[in-house]
Amino acid sequence: MTDTGDRRCRLSRFEFLMGLAATGLPVSWLPEVAWGANQVGPAPVEEIAPGVFIHRGVHALASAGNGGDICNAGFVVGTSGVAVIDTGGSLRTGAAIRAAIAAKTPLPVTHVINTHMHPDHVLGNAAFAADKPVFAGHHKLLRALSERSEGYLEAAKEQLGSDAFAGTDIVLPTLGVESESKIDLGGRTLTLTARPTAHTNNDLTVRDSSTDTVFLGDLVFVEHLPTLDGSLRGWLKLLDVLETEPAARVVPGHGPVSMAWPAAATDVKRYLNVLAADVRKSIAAGSTMTSAMETAAQGEKDKWQLFAEHNARNVSGAFAELEWE
Ligand SMILES: [Zn+2]
Repeated sequence: MTDTGDRRCRLSRFEFLMGLAATGLPVSWLPEVAWGANQVGPAPVEEIAPGVFIHRGVHALASAGNGGDICNAGFVVGTSGVAVIDTGGSLRTGAAIRAAIAAKTPLPVTHVINTHMHPDHVLGNAAFAADKPVFAGHHKLLRALSERSEGYLEAAKEQLGSDAFAGTDIVLPTLGVESESKIDLGGRTLTLTARPTAHTNNDLTVRDSSTDTVFLGDLVFVEHLPTLDGSLRGWLKLLDVLETEPAARVVPGHGPVSMAWPAAATDVKRYLNVLAADVRKSIAAGSTMTSAMETAAQGEKDKWQLFAEHNARNVSGAFAELEWE
């Protein structure tokens, strides 16, 4: 099947589900019949501020064992609706987050916000199709995710196995944030801010007006080695900007569910600065990218989980960017 054909097929399945939801059948009917999502229990969540709930993913590569539940995902409850911020790395993980919401409130999910394109943050989106929410993201998310959808789904199927992957699909954003958008949940407003290229070219932050909590997505990693898929220089520059924006607390994309700001940025900044300095040294010494991949940022090795899994790729990305300085 061609790239385009397969994508059309996938979108039409989503549209089919949206159509089913519009028939007025009970909301619970749809996921149960379509995917067995009702068999999934609620994901454990912690209320880090009034009405702000976070589910903590594990630090691991996606696998059959963890079902792609490897990033932090949250939801914010207003008086008229609920917004979800990231949905986990499979339909099953998304369904567990949906079940956690249902356990806290009968209010509808009006918005599903993705902080960026990476599969662990977006592949649970389809679990919310029956809610018919607005799917919101950075204005560059639509293109970035469309272009990668085939590869992301193939890789996820391979990593998760057919059971944990079952029903997982790409759901593209229906609202692209150009610079800033506000979402009214009743009694509180979320401010979505599209950021310049950093972790990826489609990073979006979310601020809750009521509690001054900021969801940073993967602009901040804690414990889990940061992964670079955008611009190293852009990321460091953006962290400097973010540090000037006070917050009562922040939610990193990977790590504890709630942290003080800007203290939460300390480790990611240190790693990115070491990565940049070491890669620049390699380039100046005339080393190849392959040799830099074995040596750069090795001083950070014992300070992070998943260092071996991600550092070499970060070095190759940094090398490609910095060799043109
Ligand atoms: Zn990411």
